Amino acid sequence: MPFLPAGCPGAATIKIKYLKCVVEKNSGDDDGMAGKKRVRGIAKELLDLIREASRSSHPHEFAALLREVDGVISEMLLVPGTTSNDTSARMLLDMMPLDLSVVGSVHSHPVHDLRYSDADLHMFGAKGVYNIIVAYPYGEADWICYDPRGRRVDLPVIAPEGP
Ligand code: ZN
Repeated sequence: MPFLPAGCPGAATIKIKYLKCVVEKNSGDDDGMAGKKRVRGIAKELLDLIREASRSSHPHEFAALLREVDGVISEMLLVPGTTSNDTSARMLLDMMPLDLSVVGSVHSHPVHDLRYSDADLHMFGAKGVYNIIVAYPYGEADWICYDPRGRRVDLPVIAPEGP
């Protein structure tokens, strides 16, 4: 299914910065997946937290980096001192220090549109294999995971193990 670049709040204003960022960080990385960490899925608790944070940030955008622990995406790194607004949230992600357990990114769309924008795609390439977009109204089905090329990634939701 073709996902065409879509309007994403703030995308136009920060596009140039992302283009620059992609050139610096992705040179020589052919398919964007090579040598990168694979995970089994995302913890349901984290996904719930992401949806909650997106809801709290609405109508502004929420963004964070995703970390894996033991092969499961189960933590997010918030950008210190970020007051989330539509232009600064993802920009500040570029200032985060390199962390080897970071496997991707997450950001919210305050509109009901799960398609990535050009700026989103450039960011995906810089942040890792798993890039989640959460869209308004932030329900259980209102999210999607993309690889650095913008292809949909099937990311299983892993519920906590029973007692
Ligand atoms: Zn976006």
